[in-house]
Amino acid sequence: MEIIFYIFLYGFLALIVFLTLYRPIRYLYYKCTDLIFWIRLKKQSNSVEGFRLKGDAKYYDEILQDKISYYRTLSNASKTKFLNRINRFIYSKKFIGKEGFEVDLETQVLISAAAIQLTFGLKNYFFSSFTKIYVYPDSFYYRPGGKYHKGNTATQDFINLSYKHFLEGYENSQDKINLGLHEMTHALEFNYLFGSTYDHLFADFYDSWTDLEEIEFDKMKLEKDHFLRKYAKANIHEFFAVSVEHFFEDPASFKDTAPELYYRLCTLLNQDPLNTYGDFSLSRASNKIYHIKRNVLNRSGHWSYSIMLSGIFLGILAIFYLVDKIDISTAKIILLVLCSAVTGAILQYTYFKKNYWPGVIHFIMYNLFGFGIWFTFLILLGNRLIETDITDTSFYQVDRIYYNTIEGNSADVRVCKITHEAFQAIALLYEDETIEIDYQNIRLLLQVLPKDDRQIDFSDCIEPKVVFELDQKIMGKTLLISRTKGLFGFYVIKRLLII
Ligand SMILES: [Zn+2]
Repeated sequence: MEIIFYIFLYGFLALIVFLTLYRPIRYLYYKCTDLIFWIRLKKQSNSVEGFRLKGDAKYYDEILQDKISYYRTLSNASKTKFLNRINRFIYSKKFIGKEGFEVDLETQVLISAAAIQLTFGLKNYFFSSFTKIYVYPDSFYYRPGGKYHKGNTATQDFINLSYKHFLEGYENSQDKINLGLHEMTHALEFNYLFGSTYDHLFADFYDSWTDLEEIEFDKMKLEKDHFLRKYAKANIHEFFAVSVEHFFEDPASFKDTAPELYYRLCTLLNQDPLNTYGDFSLSRASNKIYHIKRNVLNRSGHWSYSIMLSGIFLGILAIFYLVDKIDISTAKIILLVLCSAVTGAILQYTYFKKNYWPGVIHFIMYNLFGFGIWFTFLILLGNRLIETDITDTSFYQVDRIYYNTIEGNSADVRVCKITHEAFQAIALLYEDETIEIDYQNIRLLLQVLPKDDRQIDFSDCIEPKVVFELDQKIMGKTLLISRTKGLFGFYVIKRLLII
């Protein structure tokens, strides 16, 4: 009965926690989809024949060296990374020729290069919600829009490109027009907004980018001469795509005209096109100058969610398990958790404040249910594993058991009196149906109170027969409790016997 009660209680608490911690749960969901995605990708790339062939890499290198100036600027180590990513990207997509266009390996390498250039600073470069890239020879008629397009990107699933215009984008690498980068930017953004796996750094800085992007977009509508080309006015997504074209093809003028917007874009993509000698890597110094804030409460979440969730669903159970063997009261455990949470908050406040402030509620929840629970668990574990020399064996004489009848209560009130020292939890004893005759496994007798003559009330008794039998067994016997002090001063029960 008692176990069922605890299961219900725990389930109820878990439900409350589930409802209050919707974001962390969502985070867990995204972590899982992420994991599944990477496992599937690994399987897929292992099964593709020749995935690691060096010959391919050399061929890719020649094409890229010839056509993509971004690639030419990279160091050898980064070129290898670039090639590897292209290889994986090609195998993760279907390239389909339309209107008679024949897709060859060169086409695939070059189109993938646009995606890899854009996401070179990110870890997840797959836009996994896009699986197909349709390649047209020239501008194509797109029925939903009723117009001719050079390229367009759906919110999910496919990207359309005119190969002629794609190549033109790379032929002049400074005219701030690049169809490949433009469409890949749409794919990157839509994949984040509508997909389930995306880059976490991109997600963290997306809000910081869009905040300023929206201000700049509104400003652009009023200005006659904006540094971005007119098409950026079409809508906020085009603004983003056009910004990226400008960003890669003329970063110097972008930075001079709108330095803050430039650095927000750098942070979002985790690269700086002006750092040509350092593989376009980004120094985070600009984040401080422009107060570029990371938003860890987006749906990709933050590592503190993991700690919090594991604390709630595993940490509490782990503490329950340990508490069963340690002589410690519930009040003390709660106090320990609170103290641990406060310690955690003091220790980590500066760190969180400096790097990314997740909000007061999240910070408290994290310290209480994450850090606090796990720190308490560590204290209890340490206490249990590392023992001191101090041991203590006490004998208790069960001396007298008598019954009273209270008016209006049909059940007898049973009082068990134990001389010398008494234990409160004897009241729990009769509820434990696992009690054996030799009393060796009486786990619930843990709360030993080293006080003289204490009377325990059995008035809540549900099954008088069990209690009666128990009374018979305990009467006149000696209760032996052997305990050892652990590292943190709590007693660990070693032996509990009625002899
Ligand atoms: Zn567009």
